[in-house]
Amino acid sequence: MSAAAQPSSPAPLPPDAPQRHAIVIGGSMAGLLAARVLADHYDRVTVIERDRFPTEPVFRPGVPQGRHVHVLLLRGQAILEQLFPGLQDELAALGAPLLDWTADCRLMNFAGWMPRFASGLTTHTASRLLLEWVVRQRLEAYSQIRWLEAHEAVGLVAGADASRVAGVRLRRRDAAEPPDARAAEELRADLVVDASGRDSHAPEWLETLGYPRPRQTEVNAFVGYASRWYQRPADFQADWKLLLLAATPPTFRGGVLYSTEGERWLVTLSGANRDYPPTDEEGFLAFAQSLPSPLLSEAIRGATPLSPIYGYRRTENRLIHFEELTRWPDGFVVLGDAVSCFNPIYGQGMTTAALAALTLDRQLRAQRARHPDGALSGLGRRFQRALARANALPWLMATGEDFRVPAVIGARPGPLSRLFHSYFDGIIWACPHSAVTFVTFLQVAHLARSPLALFHPRIALAVTRAAIKRRKR
Ligand SMILES: Cc1cc2nc3c(=O)[nH]c(=O)nc-3n(C[C@H](O)[C@H](O)[C@H](O)COP(=O)(O)OP(=O)(O)OC[C@H]3O[C@@H](n4cnc5c(N)ncnc54)[C@H](O)[C@@H]3O)c2cc1C
Repeated sequence: MSAAAQPSSPAPLPPDAPQRHAIVIGGSMAGLLAARVLADHYDRVTVIERDRFPTEPVFRPGVPQGRHVHVLLLRGQAILEQLFPGLQDELAALGAPLLDWTADCRLMNFAGWMPRFASGLTTHTASRLLLEWVVRQRLEAYSQIRWLEAHEAVGLVAGADASRVAGVRLRRRDAAEPPDARAAEELRADLVVDASGRDSHAPEWLETLGYPRPRQTEVNAFVGYASRWYQRPADFQADWKLLLLAATPPTFRGGVLYSTEGERWLVTLSGANRDYPPTDEEGFLAFAQSLPSPLLSEAIRGATPLSPIYGYRRTENRLIHFEELTRWPDGFVVLGDAVSCFNPIYGQGMTTAALAALTLDRQLRAQRARHPDGALSGLGRRFQRALARANALPWLMATGEDFRVPAVIGARPGPLSRLFHSYFDGIIWACPHSAVTFVTFLQVAHLARSPLALFHPRIALAVTRAAIKRRKR
């Protein structure tokens, strides 16, 4: 590990702070980033993960989405760099290409091809497998963090009067006897963080402790993915590293060719409105050929496949409104996909997990100022409310596009959201004609800038001009 990979010193605890322990359920991106932040606040952090972690950047069953394209947005990259200084250099050293989102990316959407120029909006296009592995390696350097692999959390331990959570019940997973025969053990902690993803049992666990079940909002545009890894042909010539063909109504088909470490390409085809991309050889290629540009199918025709074709269909947007509960046990928080899942087309999940980790850090710091003795009263409720605020913009952006899809089901957007969505459309139409609009659009889509930036007079003018041009056609 490089010198830059050494952990930064944790903020000191008050001298009389008792031995304190935090548990994180789930060792994927949300859990890892939460563990990083908790290491600054707790003497011991235990990460409970039902998988065994691989010793190399390879697939593991607990993260089935890991085989598909994972874009780390600019904001997510900035937060990861803040938490793990030097991470980008490390990814580069491991072969992740550096991508300028305007110069190196050929991007087509319903408004046509986006303009090409150098903007300095750069990210490293590591695969999800490499990114998670590098983050986990960094955390190995933290002596406070303990890993409990092949263990599954099966419930919460209630404090004396159920007004607080006092730990987790867990079972070994790789023991010889069947799961139900294995005795559950208790692991006590001051704070339990549920980062166990889309299948989290937090709502049921809260109910078992006597709390109401939280409301849930879902918007499903029935999106499916099919992905395959290829070796980039040695003689391949192109002036782009990433090719992104976004869905162009009336079809809801899209595709991305993502250059990643090891001179490999990861190609993900997507279809909404139940128009799922096939996972057989012939169907996959035919779907690629049906995209609005032949560039993707032509590129893969000469490339050597390195994997089978993997399908994935659990892509609905879902928010669980933990923030609405008026009673909440101290010593418990939920974050990551366990709270908010987004249609993955917009690449927001890891960045919202990173924002959640920062939110947790801020709330813990404020809590310490309020209660230097380490008491956690009110922390959980305040955290879930702050997290709901942080999730509002990604939700607005993800669901906006989904409402174009005829088969979509779920809560319809209100008038304000509809207004935002239609202005957002106007922005996209203006992008091919206005570099400043395109850059600002990308910064907002990457959660790196407030959407208010899209209302700057220069951009409003570009939107108006593009609308007039369209009407004249
Ligand atoms: C097809 C697809 C493509 C995506 N593309 C992108 C993208 O381009 N960009 C992006 O930012 N995001 C993307 N995402 C979202 C991203 O994968 C997640 O948001 C991100 O992984 C954070 O999720 P998480 O850590 O909360 O949960 P998960 O990644 O689901 O991890 C949950 C972890 O908890 C463990 N676990 C579960 N239950 C238990 C238990 N009871 N006890 C112990 N351990 C448990 C699991 O084994 C797993 O390790 C995509 C998602 C999908 C489905």
